[in-house]
Amino acid sequence: MNKNTSDVSVKTEKPDFFKMDRRTFLKTACLLGASAFLGTYRTEIVRALETAETKLIWLHGAECTGCTESLLNGGDPDVLSALQALDAKLAYHETLLAGQGIFVDGQPANTAELNSEILVDELIEEGNYILVVEGAIPNGPEGSGRFFMVGNRTFKELFAKAAGNADAILAVGTCAAYGGINSANSAIAQLTDYRGVAFTKNDSSGGMLQELGVNKPVINIPGCPAHPDWILLTLSAVVLGKINISGDLSSVLDGYGRPKAYFSEVVHEECPRHEYYERDEFDTEIGGYKCLFKLGCKGKRANADCSIRKWNGGTSMCVQAGSPCIACVEPGFPDSSRPFYIQGGGGSDGGESDDRKGDGTDSYDGTSSESDSYDTDSRRDSFYRRGDD
Ligand code: SF4
Ligand code: SF4
Repeated sequence: MNKNTSDVSVKTEKPDFFKMDRRTFLKTACLLGASAFLGTYRTEIVRALETAETKLIWLHGAECTGCTESLLNGGDPDVLSALQALDAKLAYHETLLAGQGIFVDGQPANTAELNSEILVDELIEEGNYILVVEGAIPNGPEGSGRFFMVGNRTFKELFAKAAGNADAILAVGTCAAYGGINSANSAIAQLTDYRGVAFTKNDSSGGMLQELGVNKPVINIPGCPAHPDWILLTLSAVVLGKINISGDLSSVLDGYGRPKAYFSEVVHEECPRHEYYERDEFDTEIGGYKCLFKLGCKGKRANADCSIRKWNGGTSMCVQAGSPCIACVEPGFPDSSRPFYIQGGGGSDGGESDDRKGDGTDSYDGTSSESDSYDTDSRRDSFYRRGDD
């Protein structure tokens, strides 16, 4: 076969998904882009995941699906090889499910294969699963949860049912972990009353689980979006028993329910621009190469390993790419970081104190909302108690 013929066949043949080695998988996913890849291989992906053992139910609350996008763009490990290696079955994931809501003879299909509402109920009733939640859960208006309907019920009801029967819950992304953008202070925030799974902002007594009186171990994996490694590695640790989800989680998680392994350091410490900070050399316009502190960088109080782990397959990160860190992993985000690109934005101290400690002691203390009083010890204690059952 001459070179030209070979090139044509590479462009026109669809590589066999099941025979794809890791390198081909990544190359194809990269060439096609995440959504085209999913479209092309949807059936095969679903088939591969259906043969696995540990069940995952992934629910989407109020969110932009950015965390799923982040996960699907993860490089090493990629989501498919990670799930296969873990023998984990992604039993329900609305973004990846085949087309649903099909009508038969004018009526909604009434089988689990064709109707995702029936499917998710069946899976929940079977039990034995880890629940992954992406997105916040609205409690409004007036505790009814009716601002977010899925079919004929509220998302709050669906979440309650799924959480009640789950072995453990992973709250993926800042929306699910702390309410995120949905919970930002606004004229309608009290009406919509968005909640995170086990926290709302920094309040571990205000999560939806507490509202429902449901007691389950929860791991928060914040980020807007969450890093694919944080999601997959945490999931792996839970599935493989490296994190004893029913044991004492306080040795593994920080006070906001985040794995210490990824959320202990502050972005500032290993930032590629750190030497400019130390030399008092600051950019005053976007596009430079010096420290972004005076452009509102919140890296000093962003507890995440972005500077070490980097994003996009370890190539870069926000600050390296020229954008001040907005501390998207913090429980008060976005209020705790606003205004994003102005020095002193966010936080009870009016923003970044230039204390040069870099030890996270100027972290957000959760008081950006007047009504949002803060008691670190009692809230952390109440959070850990849920994991002790
Ligand atoms: S303030 Fe921001 S840009 Fe400057 S060193 Fe810290 S993290 Fe890096
Ligand atoms: S560098 Fe800051 S804004 Fe960017 S992902 Fe990390 S914590 Fe979020």
